[in-house]
Amino acid sequence: MKKTKSTKSELRNELVTIGGFHAVAMEPEFLGKVADGMEQGVLVWDENGFCTMFTDRVFDVLEMRTTDLYLGINRSDFLAGAVARGELTQKAVDKTQERFSRKTPFQFDRYLRSGRIVSTAARPMKDGGYVVTFTDVTLQRKESADLDEAKKASELAQAKVLETLENEKQRQYEVAMLAELGDWLQTCKSLDELFTVLREFMQQLMPDSRGELYIYSNSRDVLDGAMSWGEVDLHDHIKADACWALRRGRNYSLVPDKISFECPHVQDQDAPSTGNYICVPIVAHGDTVGLLHIQFHAKETKKVSLRLPHKFAAQCGELISLAIANVKLRDELHHQSTRDQLTGLFNRRHFLESMRNEIKLQERKSGSFGVISFDADKFKSFNDNHGHDAGDMILRSISEVMNALFSSDEVLCRYGGEEFTVLLPASSRAETVEAAERLRESVQEISISYAGRVLPTVTISCGVASFPRDGTQIQTILKNADNALYLAKDKGRNCVVDSAELKTGKIKAV
Ligand code: GH3
Ligand code: MG
Ligand code: MG
Repeated sequence: MKKTKSTKSELRNELVTIGGFHAVAMEPEFLGKVADGMEQGVLVWDENGFCTMFTDRVFDVLEMRTTDLYLGINRSDFLAGAVARGELTQKAVDKTQERFSRKTPFQFDRYLRSGRIVSTAARPMKDGGYVVTFTDVTLQRKESADLDEAKKASELAQAKVLETLENEKQRQYEVAMLAELGDWLQTCKSLDELFTVLREFMQQLMPDSRGELYIYSNSRDVLDGAMSWGEVDLHDHIKADACWALRRGRNYSLVPDKISFECPHVQDQDAPSTGNYICVPIVAHGDTVGLLHIQFHAKETKKVSLRLPHKFAAQCGELISLAIANVKLRDELHHQSTRDQLTGLFNRRHFLESMRNEIKLQERKSGSFGVISFDADKFKSFNDNHGHDAGDMILRSISEVMNALFSSDEVLCRYGGEEFTVLLPASSRAETVEAAERLRESVQEISISYAGRVLPTVTISCGVASFPRDGTQIQTILKNADNALYLAKDKGRNCVVDSAELKTGKIKAV
């Protein structure tokens, strides 16, 4: 101990310096007072790991009994006490002992049973051994934890806002795309047009999908493959009972990790199912007219990431339903306005329209076309003898013969009553006369039973006219065909007269 004289007049006692310790007074109780005033508990281990000094604060800070620490206690026993109180694990104790052997400073936190946290800081002393301080840091740690928590909460809130914004952006994109799809679909005039538009849109809207659209066949026993997108092997036909959606009359979603059963039409396919798909019945005017089937790929690979792919697909299905209903209504109206009800043949209005178009076309091409005008012979007396219903059956049979004989290019028309016309586009006079002859023979062969007996044969008389030789105006051509027809009646019926004969006959050409 080194003592020096005080240089300051108010310091009456001698100054004391012991190593790095400096004090004014060094009465024996002085160090005890310092120790009592310190916030930290202090403990000294000598180089052999025995306690050579400690302050009473250690008992308070570490909430220990006085028997837990005494001068000369072995560090191992002291640390074993901490394990017994549940403040340290054996593993932590082993690590601590290992750190003491390194002779470098270290720090760790103890979690007392009361919930308080004590920072244990150990510093090596110059001549070997360690001085350890125990500081209650419960408040600091809690404040720092609160701060961390607040930071995390703010980060979370920020992420949530961003997610909501992204979500809203995607929602707006989907709404806009659906509106655009709806617009395009509504302007489609035919199913073919609709399928083309749909293929383009679906590929863009749902790039991580493949899809198929089926439409009921006219016979309604199967659904025909209408269009597809993505890499898919579209079935030619599927049966209605091969799809859960069609059987249950509502959308059917199959998603991974949920008990559900694959539709048979999916199992039949070469491409394996992704196990994630939706089937949407397509309904037009209350009738199920088709099926939309969309398979979602297991992983999203493209940029477009739909929020709820199944819901989006169902919305597309609704738009497709509306559009198909629209096209069908248009078709129906068109059919009604162009067809004769009894026979299903074209009506006079449509026939005249077709003639107008054909005249324009053949005028441009300097080509020709033919017209057959024909009328059932003695039909009035047929009706009188066998009834109007039997007459109707004959008219329908004549239309069936016409459909069987002519191709879809030829325009077959019930002109009115028991009079019919046929337009043969791009045909010569000779071809038209030949066709009329075949028609006359076929009608003559019709055999129908009505009310239990076979009806007598009905014959037709035909007049043929040709563009441009018999005129370049609709009315002139038809008048010439009619005049040839009258001549056929005149000649005794059941025969074909070419308007060229009119020049020499009783009835003149116009
Ligand atoms: P012709 O050989 O000179 O043509 O004699 P026709 O008796 O056929 O001639 P007419 O024009 O005098 O009679 C046409 C008959 O066709 C009158 C009408 O009863 C019948 N008819 C017209 N439209 C229909 C129809 O929709 N159904 C039935 N069953 N008969 C019809
Ligand atoms: Mg008539
Ligand atoms: Mg007649």
